[in-house]
Amino acid sequence: MKRIIPEPEFYHPNGDAEIVSDTSTPTPMTYQRPWTHENDVTIRLRRPLKPLPNTRILWQKSGRPLRVVPLELEVAQPLPEVCAAHGRPATGSSTVRTLFFDTDAHPRFHNRRSIQEFLKALMKSAWIAPVSTIVTGEWPICHRCARRARIYRYVVYGILAVMAANFAAFLTVSFAHIDWLKPWFGSAFCPGSILGFMIVVHLFDKSVDPVKFRPIYDERFAFVQAHPEFRRALQIDMPPGSTNPPR
Ligand SMILES: [Zn+2]
Repeated sequence: MKRIIPEPEFYHPNGDAEIVSDTSTPTPMTYQRPWTHENDVTIRLRRPLKPLPNTRILWQKSGRPLRVVPLELEVAQPLPEVCAAHGRPATGSSTVRTLFFDTDAHPRFHNRRSIQEFLKALMKSAWIAPVSTIVTGEWPICHRCARRARIYRYVVYGILAVMAANFAAFLTVSFAHIDWLKPWFGSAFCPGSILGFMIVVHLFDKSVDPVKFRPIYDERFAFVQAHPEFRRALQIDMPPGSTNPPR
């Protein structure tokens, strides 16, 4: 008998839905509590003309439906040649794609599903918060950002190498029937590998993240944690009349 596996369904970001925000105000009136900080900068966003590449899998529907319109957005303004995290002159740039989740705390929350939430969902067999918004942009990075990314990447490779070696050892012990060693390598493989994999994902995220976003309250603006030098440079670069919202 054939088992029928239901076809996965996907959201269509930016679909036919109208822009949900209030377009009568050119800038958000003020920073939006509680998840932002008064020293954040505001970056203008817009819906890209074409869908972002390779995002389809992120839009797969789950048992926890989205409560907001799924959105793909891009940075809609030039950024200064200063690193947002360290305030140093940029030595390059990095394409950053940030995911926001429809969590219990906020419908476009900036934090990845935390390890606690993941474990909670696993234990209760509940669904974890789905992706609600994807923001992409070309962000300036400095020497320090590049070095940090390199270190994170080496750590990630190291953990992956240990996981691979452990898996090979587990297979060897299993095939050679060395029973007293099996539980050791077995538990290192599972749950060890699951934890290792979660750490790898977390570190990899950090390695490619030169910018810290806050939750998105209005699809035309992102609040970004920024170094004072970046803030200053951004204000200098801004044409008159389009300054950041008053504090
Ligand atoms: Zn930097």
